[in-house]
Amino acid sequence: MLFGETSLFADPDWDLSGIDNLEDLEEKVKQCTRCNLRAGCRGVVFGEGNPQARLVLCGEGPGADEDLLGRPFVGRAGQLLDKILEACGFERFTHVYILNVVKCRPPGNRTPTEMEVAACRPNLNAQLRILQPKILVLLGSAALQAVLNPRGKITRDRGKWVRKEGVFILPTYHPAALLRNPSLKRESWEDFKQVVAKYRELIDPGHYSIHC
Ligand code: SF4
Repeated sequence: MLFGETSLFADPDWDLSGIDNLEDLEEKVKQCTRCNLRAGCRGVVFGEGNPQARLVLCGEGPGADEDLLGRPFVGRAGQLLDKILEACGFERFTHVYILNVVKCRPPGNRTPTEMEVAACRPNLNAQLRILQPKILVLLGSAALQAVLNPRGKITRDRGKWVRKEGVFILPTYHPAALLRNPSLKRESWEDFKQVVAKYRELIDPGHYSIHC
């Protein structure tokens, strides 16, 4: 369930269902200690962008730069993401909202464990319930596996739309993967061209992009 907030890990002390705006949700999530990641990071990185945006991008988790600044996607991968968004005619505080599967930095930038993803799932679900995206872009395997398919493979599933609970969801590579392997950039750009086309179809027919 994309926006469901019940799970095996449902916690009676962590009921977010009565929170209906991002500001109050952020205050609550900043107090979260539902997994061990919180003890090893500076703070919760909740997300940022335009709360009214109907295009949401979901990554894996904060890295060192994000943990330091308390903002998502501000390191090298984030700078690349901003360039991709710019090429699409998107600006991070105007057209999109950016968040992560887990809100606290995994040590050494390791992939979050299943338990950590499950612990943070109510926070992600509450964000998505409030944001009500029309388009959700999943950046990388962790987001694909957390939101769509625990056995998902980004190399196989990228670029293929899935419609779930009325939301058009597109997995694609995480920008960090593009930094490690620049040959993936061409496929990534094909995916983002699809996002622009879907954005024009569902959100703004007049959306301008110089490149696509
Ligand atoms: S990663 Fe998520 S569940 Fe774990 S402490 Fe941080 S906000 Fe809470």
